[in-house]
Amino acid sequence: MPHYYATLNKREAIAEGTFAFYFDKPAGFTFKAGQFVELTLTNPPETDSEGNSRAFSIASAPSEPHLMFATRMRETAFKRVMRTLPLGTNVQIDGPFGNLILHNNTARAAVLLAGGIGITPFRSIVVRAAKEQLPHRLFLFYSNRRPEDAAFLGELQALRAENANYTLVDTMTEVKRGSNSWKGENGRISKEMLIRHLGDLKGPLYYLAGPPGMVGAMQHVLDTAGVNSDDIRPEEFAGY
Ligand SMILES: Cc1cc2nc3c(=O)[nH]c(=O)nc-3n(C[C@H](O)[C@H](O)[C@H](O)COP(=O)(O)OP(=O)(O)OC[C@H]3O[C@@H](n4cnc5c(N)ncnc54)[C@H](O)[C@@H]3O)c2cc1C
Repeated sequence: MPHYYATLNKREAIAEGTFAFYFDKPAGFTFKAGQFVELTLTNPPETDSEGNSRAFSIASAPSEPHLMFATRMRETAFKRVMRTLPLGTNVQIDGPFGNLILHNNTARAAVLLAGGIGITPFRSIVVRAAKEQLPHRLFLFYSNRRPEDAAFLGELQALRAENANYTLVDTMTEVKRGSNSWKGENGRISKEMLIRHLGDLKGPLYYLAGPPGMVGAMQHVLDTAGVNSDDIRPEEFAGY
């Protein structure tokens, strides 16, 4: 598989402690909504034992002009370098990888369960669904501690007006610790919350993304609800 090189074009804060990075799309690079890449810093000014590469889901949709990634900024060498990377710098991109891709059978609903930064592959999928007017019934459950932590929240809410087949259930687990008011759901994504919005849990296909603890908890909820393991597609963001 060839290496690709992508040029940093823009960086912006999109939630508290969370940045989006926009890169020019390398010539010849194609991907499907929901896939990820291995992003490598070439000649970074510092490094640590975790090395210069990280897996990142592509948060942009294939039809959008840039490759966009989003991440929680933490005090690791990799992320310190990302925070100050001069615009115009090239990074190495390998991939795309992964099978977190919307199924073909439009008769079956897709239920996307995102914890925090696990929203990245699902932003790509729901933007694609709106742009291509896909007939799939899509339910996105998006859980964060507080509204200020929720990347892309306004955009994901606005997409409701563009796609009648899309339902967003946004929920906060620690809203009292934030300073924003909140009118959506409260608490973790639970069997009860899923049943309230989906009715029968056994028809749809489920896509899970986020930190391993969150993905494991969602897997448990679905297992105890009797959902067939063939209908569950988990993607753990190892490293959180
Ligand atoms: C398929 C896939 C897709 C992914 N997509 C994304 C994505 O879209 N966006 C994204 O942000 N990440 C994504 N990740 C995770 C990403 O690859 C990194 O592992 C993650 O961002 C953490 O990188 P880091 O540099 O902050 O920590 P690392 O240096 O990789 O940290 C390694 C270990 O140190 C611990 N650690 C480091 N810093 C802290 C801290 N401040 N507090 C507590 N513990 C700490 C972590 O728990 C971890 O176990 C994905 C991973 C996979 C496998």
